[in-house]
Amino acid sequence: MSYYDKTLNYPVPVNETWQIQDSSKVKTAMSCWRQYFFEHVLGWRIDRPNIHLIFGSAWHEALAFLHLEGFENKNVREAYNKHFLPYYRQFIDPDEDEIYLPKTPERAYLALAAYCIRRQRDARDYSVVYHDGKPMIEIGGKINLSDKRQISFRMDTILKGPRGIISREHKTGSSTWNWDIQWHLSVQIGTYSHVLYCLYPENEVAGVIVDGTFFKKTKPNAKLDAKDPLRHFDFLSVPIYKSPAAMNAWLNNTLWWLDMTEWNFNMLAECSDSDDVLHAFPQNPESCTKFFGCDYLPFCMAWANPLRHIDKVPIGFKVEFWNPLDEPVTVELEV
Ligand code: SF4
Repeated sequence: MSYYDKTLNYPVPVNETWQIQDSSKVKTAMSCWRQYFFEHVLGWRIDRPNIHLIFGSAWHEALAFLHLEGFENKNVREAYNKHFLPYYRQFIDPDEDEIYLPKTPERAYLALAAYCIRRQRDARDYSVVYHDGKPMIEIGGKINLSDKRQISFRMDTILKGPRGIISREHKTGSSTWNWDIQWHLSVQIGTYSHVLYCLYPENEVAGVIVDGTFFKKTKPNAKLDAKDPLRHFDFLSVPIYKSPAAMNAWLNNTLWWLDMTEWNFNMLAECSDSDDVLHAFPQNPESCTKFFGCDYLPFCMAWANPLRHIDKVPIGFKVEFWNPLDEPVTVELEV
């Protein structure tokens, strides 16, 4: 079950989170091993709030409450005041809100109202599944992929719907353009499907629904807003059912990347700061321009062997290791 060998000597400080792998870490590995090295081996992360992560987490808090208490209009205010806002305000002060338009609390409140209107239409068709008396909302744990490999996961919901058991996963974004394509083969959705198949009979599993809410980059306009206050949002649900053959493909792929993770850690143990280049966790220059550009680009441009520079955390970065199970969950599973 091990991704690194505690008996080996590594040229960087060992961290116990190296042992924890989840779909987010595999995704980083798929993008660039060197990024994985900086982010998950050294734990170097940008030391400033990430509005997309903060806003998304606050949104999750509100939707978890609504899935438990119901989508009636009366619950919108509580979802916002007691769940969205307290989380969001831990990181963002009110005078900073406008900087992050359209991901602002004001729009989140409207979006929650719009979300509830939408869900009221199908609320009768879906009910929360219970596990040992606990609602399957905010579920976390570890699941075996083979006798040698285990992966950690966090899921938003497990619900019973008209076609069977589903997991509805909440996402926020700013544009629906090509958004749906990313989920069909993703490690994350395969992991959630695997959890469902391990917990419930195969013929009862209806798949995963990726439930996106989009905050459009629309400008405030009093006239237009009075006419249609919900014009700032789009919603898109992507249902994904994975057949046993598709699950096998996912499993084979995921195990390959996890094997490569162990291989890179083993190789790291053979590297040192006297090497000309770092052989483990190689660079993938095709990913440098992804999103807003890779945070680690200056290091990759300047350092052939980053092991010579690990004693001092660079300005603007902090050390923080990702563990998907750090945040509390309602139901903890080991499957
Ligand atoms: S700058 Fe490019 S090569 Fe370097 S970590 Fe980022 S994606 Fe990888």
